[in-house]
Amino acid sequence: MVTAKEPKQQVKIGPTRLLINNEWVESVSGRRFETINPATGEIICEVAEADAPDVDKAVQVARAAFTSGEWSKISATKRGELLYKLADLIAQNIDELAQLETLDNGKPLQDSLSDLELVIATYRYYAGWADKVQGKTIPINGPYFCYTRHEPVGVVGQIIPWNFPLLMQAWKLAPALATGNTVVMKTAEQTPLSALRVGELIVEAGFPPGVVNILSGYGPTAGAAIARHMDIDKVAFTGSTEVGHLIMEAAAKSNLKRVTLELGGKSPNIVFADADFDQAIAGAHDAIFFNQGQCCCAGSRLFVEEKCYDEFVAKTVEKARNRIVGNPFDPDTEQGPQVDQEQFNRVMSYIESGMREGAQMLCGGNRVGEQGYFIAPTVFADVRDEMKIAQEEIFGPVMSIIKFKDIEEVIQRANATMYGLAAAVWTQDITKAQAIANNVRAGTIWVNCYDVFDAAAPFGGFKQSGIGRELGEYGLQQYTEIKTVTIKL
Ligand code: ADP
Repeated sequence: MVTAKEPKQQVKIGPTRLLINNEWVESVSGRRFETINPATGEIICEVAEADAPDVDKAVQVARAAFTSGEWSKISATKRGELLYKLADLIAQNIDELAQLETLDNGKPLQDSLSDLELVIATYRYYAGWADKVQGKTIPINGPYFCYTRHEPVGVVGQIIPWNFPLLMQAWKLAPALATGNTVVMKTAEQTPLSALRVGELIVEAGFPPGVVNILSGYGPTAGAAIARHMDIDKVAFTGSTEVGHLIMEAAAKSNLKRVTLELGGKSPNIVFADADFDQAIAGAHDAIFFNQGQCCCAGSRLFVEEKCYDEFVAKTVEKARNRIVGNPFDPDTEQGPQVDQEQFNRVMSYIESGMREGAQMLCGGNRVGEQGYFIAPTVFADVRDEMKIAQEEIFGPVMSIIKFKDIEEVIQRANATMYGLAAAVWTQDITKAQAIANNVRAGTIWVNCYDVFDAAAPFGGFKQSGIGRELGEYGLQQYTEIKTVTIKL
C-alpha cells in the first residue's frame, strides 16, 4: 500500500540563528536560507546562513574557551556531568526533537524516536568516559620517569550530514566534549533545525560559552571555511566520499589539521541458501530501505546464492511492494520522502540507469504522490557487478539483487569496490559466517543481522569509506593527542 497523505505541520520550530559563544546571532552577512519540508516541498522557515566570517567568529570563541576559558579549567568529572545533563534534557524533550527531525528530514516519526534513543545513549556513554581517559607510565631506559597524557586536540571542526542529523551531532559532539575539546559544528543545509534545538539544550545544561558553536550553512562556503581554517586543530566529517577528498585536501593545504572521515559505502549483503529465510528477507529489506535508503552503510549490493535466488527474489519483491510509503507523521508509515529535490532526482536517475543497463526492475521505479519527494521501494534483480547501480552509492530506496555461486567468488566480488564501510552475511553455518567476517574488507560485519548500532561499538570505514572510527572506546582516540612527559630523576 502506498500513500502520501498531508503531513502534519504543527511542530515547534526552535532556534533559527547561529549559536556562537552561547548566544543566538544572525550571520555576519545577514543572509538566511530556506529549509524545506521534504514531505510537501513547502518552506518550513528560514535559517541564518553562516559563511567564512561566521566560522572565524566561532573559532575565536572556541579557541578562547579552550585555552583560557572556564572549559579548560573544569574537571573531567564535571565534563561528564554536563554530558549526562544534556542527555537528560534531550530525553525530557524527546517528542519535540523527534517531530522536528521528522519535519525537516522526512524520516518516519518512529525512526526519529529510535534515532533519539541512540543519541541519548551516546551522550551518556561518553559522559561515563570523561574521567576515564588516561595515559600510561612507561619504563624507559635510564634515570627517568616517563608517562603519557591524553590531551584534547583543541578546537575541532565538525561537519555533519542530513541523513541522521541528531545522531551525527551526538556521535561527533559527545566524544569531543568528553575529552575536553571545543567545537565548531556545521550542520547540513537540508536539515539545520534539530541540531540548533539541541544547541539550546546545551546552553541550558550549563556548558560554558564558546565550548559548542553550531552554524547552519552550505558546504562549499561555511564547510570549506572550516576545512581550511588555520586555527582549527582537527576536522571530523561525515558525508560523501567526493567531499571527503576535498576536506582532506583542504586540511593538507592549510595547517595539516587532523582529519577523520566517515564516507560512502556500497555494502555487500550476502545471503546463503542455508540462511533462516524469513529472517534474511526481512533483514535484506531493512538493510536497504531503512531511512529511505539514505544510509552510508545501506546493504545496497544484495548477493543471493544461486540455489535460493528465485524464491528469495519473489518473496523480497512481495515485501517491497507492501512497504508503506507516506506521511512520515503517520504511525503506520515505514518510508517517508527523500530529503530534497536533488536527492530525489539523483535516485530517479539511478533507477533510469538500471533500466538502461538491462537490470530487471520488478517493482517500484516511480514517484509516489503529487507533492514531496517520495519514491516507491524499487527492486532490481539480475544486476551485474559492472552496472552503475551495483557500483555507485544511490542513497535511495533501490535494491540491487545480484546472483552468486560460491563463497570464494562472493568474497572476491564483495571486495571489488573502492568502499569498505559495512557488510553482512546471512547463514546458519558458522564457518561461512567467519569466512565472510574475516575476508570481507569493511569496518563493520553483521552476521544474521543488519544496522545494529551501539554507542560502545566502533563504526567507520576501510578504504575510501573513511579514516578513523566513531563510537566506542576507539572513538575517543580521534579526539586526543598523546603527550609524552619525561622527567630526569
Ligand atoms: P550529500 O551529497 O549527501 O549532501 P555531502 O558530502 O555533500 O553529502 O554533504 C555532507 C556535509 O558536507 C554537509 O554538511 C555539507 O554541507 C558539507 N559539504 C559539502 N561540500 C563541502 C565542501 N566543499 N567543504 C566542506 N563541507 C562540505
